[in-house]
Amino acid sequence: MRIPIIAGNWKMNKTKDEAVDFIYRINREVPNSAKVETVIFAQSPYLKTLVKRQGDYLQIGAQNMHYEDNGAYTGEISPVVVKSLGVTYILIGHSERKIYYNETDETVNLKLQAAFRNSLKAIVCVGESLKDREGNKTTAVITKQVESALKGITAKQVENVVLAYEPIWAIGTGKTATTSIANDTCGVIRSVIEKLYSLEVANKVRIQYGGSVKPSNIKQLMAEEQIDGVLVGGASLNSEDFLQLIYYQN
Ligand code: PGA
Repeated sequence: MRIPIIAGNWKMNKTKDEAVDFIYRINREVPNSAKVETVIFAQSPYLKTLVKRQGDYLQIGAQNMHYEDNGAYTGEISPVVVKSLGVTYILIGHSERKIYYNETDETVNLKLQAAFRNSLKAIVCVGESLKDREGNKTTAVITKQVESALKGITAKQVENVVLAYEPIWAIGTGKTATTSIANDTCGVIRSVIEKLYSLEVANKVRIQYGGSVKPSNIKQLMAEEQIDGVLVGGASLNSEDFLQLIYYQN
């Protein structure tokens, strides 16, 4: 059984005090028996503070890191340092990093290797642009991104990777993909994994949908067979909304 994974990506939002307050509220409301795995991706300077307060239930993740362990990369963050802060997860290849910071399919792969080298769990994002979708290129684009991200990753390792399907046109736009688009494209990702590894491995890998997910649409999305979780930006900033996302099954 694939345990649902609900992840919040705060992006460049929240002061340290706001972040600590949010974690406090979540810890207070969420019993350890919650039926989902939960991660918050926060800004790096206060990751350690959040890790100390994360409780048993909530996991803290970093939004970015370099693919080298150390070196002359001014302003970058080493995966060794990220790991030493006590975080569990790393978010890799978010489309905003590709659009604004020139990340490529190749650096996504290098970062995934760095994550394994440093015992970090990874959520790897893939997604097509509106132009790709309108040009009927979604399957080709997603296939290439998944194949490239997983280059050199073993079957044993891939079972621990979470893939997030995030159509670029649905991020922060209020336009959620229809449940059938989301489910079908998550299915494309699973079939690429099956082709690269095996059906058994593909059935173990968790695939999230991301793009304008909110309390009002999570239930429909999570009812789809291929969707094992969500990656949420805007609606993860408010603790009440985030609690509703965690408790979507109620
Ligand atoms: P959104 O962002 O939920 O605000 O659309 C999703 C994301 O960027 O992961």
